[in-house]
Amino acid sequence: MSFLAQTTDMSFLRQFDPEITDLINKEYKRQVEGLELIASENVVAREVMEAMGTILTNKYAEGYPGKRYYGGCEFHDQIENIARDRLCRLFGAEHANVQPHSGSQANEAVYLSFLKPGDKILSQSLNNGGHLSHGDPANISGKYYNITSYGVDLESELLDYAEIEATARKVKPDLIVCGASAYPREIDFKAFAEIAEDVGARSMADIAHISGLCCTGLHNSPVGVTTYVTSTTHKTLRGPRGGVIMCGKEYANSIDKAVFPGLQGGPLMHVIAAKAVCFREALSNEYKEYAEQVVKNCKVLAATLIDEGFRLVTGGTDNHLCLLDLSEQGISGHQAEIALGRAGITVNKNTIPRQHLSPFETSGLRLGTPTITTRGMREEECKQVGVWISRVLHNVENAAVLAETKDEVTTFCLRYPLYPEIRE
Ligand SMILES: *Cc1c(COP(=O)(O)O)cnc(C)c1O
Repeated sequence: MSFLAQTTDMSFLRQFDPEITDLINKEYKRQVEGLELIASENVVAREVMEAMGTILTNKYAEGYPGKRYYGGCEFHDQIENIARDRLCRLFGAEHANVQPHSGSQANEAVYLSFLKPGDKILSQSLNNGGHLSHGDPANISGKYYNITSYGVDLESELLDYAEIEATARKVKPDLIVCGASAYPREIDFKAFAEIAEDVGARSMADIAHISGLCCTGLHNSPVGVTTYVTSTTHKTLRGPRGGVIMCGKEYANSIDKAVFPGLQGGPLMHVIAAKAVCFREALSNEYKEYAEQVVKNCKVLAATLIDEGFRLVTGGTDNHLCLLDLSEQGISGHQAEIALGRAGITVNKNTIPRQHLSPFETSGLRLGTPTITTRGMREEECKQVGVWISRVLHNVENAAVLAETKDEVTTFCLRYPLYPEIRE
């Protein structure tokens, strides 16, 4: 296995720390040979990785461009300004903060910017596709704020806006949070913003998963619609691991203060430079074509699984992911995840509406196409992927079938290198 997929040949690291070098290379091989269907993952461009692996990491830059608490920030200022400007251009936002270290921190910063402990948040429950940072009892958001959650309609498995509105009228929340980690259909951000306005609440859309679809017009965008928009940069957006916040000018100051000094110390400037590179990429026509292909691929994967006799939550998908309901197959999401893993296909088990099994076992699987699309797979390949998944799920206990599938998957994946310009 070569070292070329890293930003450098790692010649120093290889000599100094063979143990870690070896594990990085093993992980690289795993990524190259495996079929990655985790909906929240992607493969960043070499340009993004190069920006991350630079001397920018050496410097403290607490504060914001023009108002730092450390000297020597003139180049950091320019980098952060470029990142903010590009993000504003990408989404048509008035204000952007690019410092949150993660999607969860971006959400925490929004809460901290205007809520007090004990204030009320209405958000989608984790079991119905929401995220931990939206008020789960195990998360700081659930410990500090008073959470009421909404789910999906148990028949249609869709968000029920009339029901959400009724709950909002009853609860009178200070903030309504929308956006999900496992919802395969389009979310009506305008409906959420209107409900919030009606009950005197602010609204926050968390587009961590779908930001790459929102900035390319493949999903309606909440920017300029909800009070706040948060996102990760490492999912469909295909940038470095991190978070961002967008809002109108009137909220800029309170958001910036909540991120620093409210929640974080020094920004990760090497990551902010990589975010800027990612936003430049997302502004290109090639990226728009990529995002279109992600959605097309997911529709083909979903249709293939339906042809193979599986049921999908909501019966299909509008975005980059689909949710497979395994209750009729008599296997759990946990068993399915393990069997697919043995066949070289990486997925995650997921809770689904009306599930009978525990959140650890689960009755569902979440499948996403962002990574395989980055690797160059198109409709025909996605059909093949669906057929493999079906074969594995019909043979979860059959070691020979799993091993044979793994061989086929590996041979197939080697035709779609992570970094095509390099011979791997
Ligand atoms: C992934 C995700 C996050 C959190 O991202 P981290 O960077 O892992 O903290 C937040 N919200 C939603 C909806 C997500 O799917």
